[in-house]
Amino acid sequence: MRFSFNCQATCSQTKARAGVWNTPHGIVETPRFMPVGTLATVKGLTPAQVQTTGAQMILANTYHLHLQPGEGIVQKAGGLHQFMAWKGPILTDSGGFQVFSLSELREIKESGVTFRSPRDGRMIEITPERSIKIQNSLGADVIMAFDECPPANATRVEVERATQRTYRWLERCIQAHERPQEQALFGIVQGGIYPDLRSEAARSLVELDLPGYAIGGVSVGEKLELIHHIVNLTAPLLPPHKPRYLMGVGTYREMVKAVAAGIDLFDCVIPTRFGRHGAAMVKGERWNLKNAQFKEDFTPLDETCPCYTCENFTRAYLNHLIKSREMLGYILLSLHNIAELVRFTQRMREAILSDRFTSEFAEWLNTSPTPR
Ligand SMILES: [Zn+2]
Repeated sequence: MRFSFNCQATCSQTKARAGVWNTPHGIVETPRFMPVGTLATVKGLTPAQVQTTGAQMILANTYHLHLQPGEGIVQKAGGLHQFMAWKGPILTDSGGFQVFSLSELREIKESGVTFRSPRDGRMIEITPERSIKIQNSLGADVIMAFDECPPANATRVEVERATQRTYRWLERCIQAHERPQEQALFGIVQGGIYPDLRSEAARSLVELDLPGYAIGGVSVGEKLELIHHIVNLTAPLLPPHKPRYLMGVGTYREMVKAVAAGIDLFDCVIPTRFGRHGAAMVKGERWNLKNAQFKEDFTPLDETCPCYTCENFTRAYLNHLIKSREMLGYILLSLHNIAELVRFTQRMREAILSDRFTSEFAEWLNTSPTPR
């Protein structure tokens, strides 16, 4: 079996679990954070650098790669792994989220979504079949179903309609999928903030016996308490022997709470975005390295962090690089930020394996949400 998920340990007080997930390009030890490489590059970092962070699986983006360079080029290169020289597992999202959040002038029909390309203005239609065809060409280990993502302010009727359409689109995605042996197709549970819609969606998706499941539409601007509520409700409805992925979530507290609900995988653009803005994630806080307080601080960013940045450079040097707008500053911060989030999920994994999760992560489990 090319894809299999083995649960190694479960927490005695929460639904947290540690597992090993086998994919065609290697294993993913869960819980684990996955860095985002939107355009087949984790911005600023070489694959070798990404590997040193402990990241095992990375993401790439169907919508962006379809626009540039086009999936045909990636396919000619031998697929995403060859094209970007990342040997480990890769996941591509379906483009649904970007089509609904980034593009203007979109028209949503039962067949699919038509939108104007932000690159050259041409009209593009993405249907469930087209999304899967693009993802089959890109060749990632995990591909995502094309879903309709209603905005956070959508009415219940709109969310219900989108959730039902997402299910019909999923059936079409399954039909269109040409490489089920090499690529695992994940279904996405939608349903907005409505518990009954979420559980109904989860139940109908589980009946399709997919190789993995994601919870989508939880980072589109709704209140964090609602996210926790929805994740707590939805995750336990998903089959225990399949990986569970919470899309777009990568803040400390939200990851801990989601792990406690039984989530295995996370992704978020925060570490590289912060890095590009001269910010470091240190011990659960966001530090702006431009600040004068770091000018003569000759200690590492985080003395407990084993990453290349913290092993070799001081806060003073990083402050100098960021103030001088030197490329290396952004690179070193991105490298540390990814290592930090991956390590944070690794620490949760180790705590679950020794059944110390609730005591070691009590600080995150028992406090109110991170403001944003
Ligand atoms: Zn570091």
